[in-house]
Amino acid sequence: MRRLAEVLEAISGTTSKIAKRDLVADYLKTLTDEELRIACTYLTGSPFPAGDGRALNVGWSAIVEALLDVSGATGEALDQVYLRHGDLGAAAYDLLHQRRHAPLFRTPMTLPAVDAAFTRMAGATGKGSRQVKIDGMRTLLSDADPLEAKYLVRIITSDLRVGLKEGLLEEAIAKAFDVPVTTVRRANMLVSDIGMVAVMARHGNLDQATLTLFRPFHFMLAETVFTPEEAFALTRADGDRPESLLVEDKYDGIRAQVHHDGTRLAIYSRTLDEITPSFPELHGDLRALGHRYILDGEIIAWKDERAIPFSALQQRLRRKDPSDLVGTVPVVMFAFDLLYLDGEVLMDRPLLERQKALRGLPLGGAVQSAMWTVADNPEQLASQFREARDRGNEGLVIKRPTSRYQPGRRGRQWMKLKEELATLDVVVVAAEHGHGKRASVLSDVTFAVRNGDALVTIGKAYSGLTDVEILELTRWFQQHTTKDLGRVKIVEPNIVLEVAFDAVTRSDRHESGYALRFPRIKRIRDDKTADEINTLDDVKRIFEHQGESRGGLSPKLAKSAKGER
Ligand code: ATP
Repeated sequence: MRRLAEVLEAISGTTSKIAKRDLVADYLKTLTDEELRIACTYLTGSPFPAGDGRALNVGWSAIVEALLDVSGATGEALDQVYLRHGDLGAAAYDLLHQRRHAPLFRTPMTLPAVDAAFTRMAGATGKGSRQVKIDGMRTLLSDADPLEAKYLVRIITSDLRVGLKEGLLEEAIAKAFDVPVTTVRRANMLVSDIGMVAVMARHGNLDQATLTLFRPFHFMLAETVFTPEEAFALTRADGDRPESLLVEDKYDGIRAQVHHDGTRLAIYSRTLDEITPSFPELHGDLRALGHRYILDGEIIAWKDERAIPFSALQQRLRRKDPSDLVGTVPVVMFAFDLLYLDGEVLMDRPLLERQKALRGLPLGGAVQSAMWTVADNPEQLASQFREARDRGNEGLVIKRPTSRYQPGRRGRQWMKLKEELATLDVVVVAAEHGHGKRASVLSDVTFAVRNGDALVTIGKAYSGLTDVEILELTRWFQQHTTKDLGRVKIVEPNIVLEVAFDAVTRSDRHESGYALRFPRIKRIRDDKTADEINTLDDVKRIFEHQGESRGGLSPKLAKSAKGER
């Protein structure tokens, strides 16, 4: 653990991507297979591999309790160092550094020992589990030196803060074991376990990486288009000349990946968490499909053959036991892709073929095929868009018939056309007390979009959240304040919001150079991380296209479609 902590410290000390990559590559070469697997997971800032299914669930207060206990510091001292750094890891470093009675004999902290401790802590559930977790934290922190503690805490809170993206780790693995980075990336897409990929890279068997049932992988995503013409123009620009594009309704629900092996059934969310118990009414029809399969689709709240607003579904997601809402907020799943069938990986087959295989399954009941058609030109696409809206859906997802399934990629193979082009995913960077009955809560938030590695502010919102959500966020903001400016708290950039607005305007008030007119919060995007928010380039594109489309044809084509000149 000491070496890993030193490497992480060195990585955070340089901004050069090449230097970071080389530091990691040199380190990885020195490890045993077991250490390599664990170290790579920790280098992604996570205690367990993505898609592994385990979660530590060690709350902030449990870490703090253990830290105070081991360091002997007072709560006040902790508050002070925390406010200075805005980071619990750095606070742990300071407090352990200052502790009066450092232990004479510490058990050296190996990576397998940390892994075993994490496994024990994750395994504790139900009554008494909090105590097991605090005891686990206490043992880890007592054995750790200050630098180890700093990074242990950061791994436990999944916030490494050293500027090492997973893409760079993939490059380091490629360099360490002299294999092409494209092979490393592909293997990682398929198995969603970078540690396992690193071990395979070392042994030269990356080509054996394949989809595995009950090991979820990242979803293929779509690029935004603003007009029907743009969908065709982008396709042509890529040198593709499809006769037609596949067009599906864009359902406004939650993305889901279903794995089934004939007996076991698992539903995974976009964050690769298992959400099977949340949707009991889907289980029967998903099992009835038979076969061993992995399918991709959207779960939506659905009543009387129409989608009901996402907020209803959100209500269900918040419940541990959804049974009392199954009647009032029933769900269905619209399946639109099939990635694995009876031992065969279909990912590299053209979409048209995958969908044919999907429709060969006995879909029905609560598991239906997504509404689909084809479009040969922008005018057709525009009327299909209006029809999808009339059915109560968000818009269209337009897919190239030849597209392969590319996990985790947002590309132009799939494009989305929405009515409300005016929503952005942003991250909260500051929160402030509201007025009147909201004076005691942090209800007014300042948010930012991404510009390269930096975050630039673009607006402030006061409305759109429920009182319960505001209360929950207030608690989170209080615990994750990095700088307390009195009324305003600068907070860790972690909470992703989807905001709607009427227009983008130029503005000197915000760092981005733009502002949103009448911004309102549509929902909290728990399923997204700050890495996935919209970028300044997206804002510029919206600024340039606004007023032009709203999902319809550009003014020129709209006129000609109506026979006007
Ligand atoms: P949004 O915020 O617009 O929902 P997103 O950022 O969550 O988009 P994108 O990949 O950009 O994700 O947009 C595609 C999303 O639309 C998918 O993640 C999926 O949840 C949803 N979706 C709904 N219907 C479909 C469909 N027929 N095919 C693919 N994705 C669909």
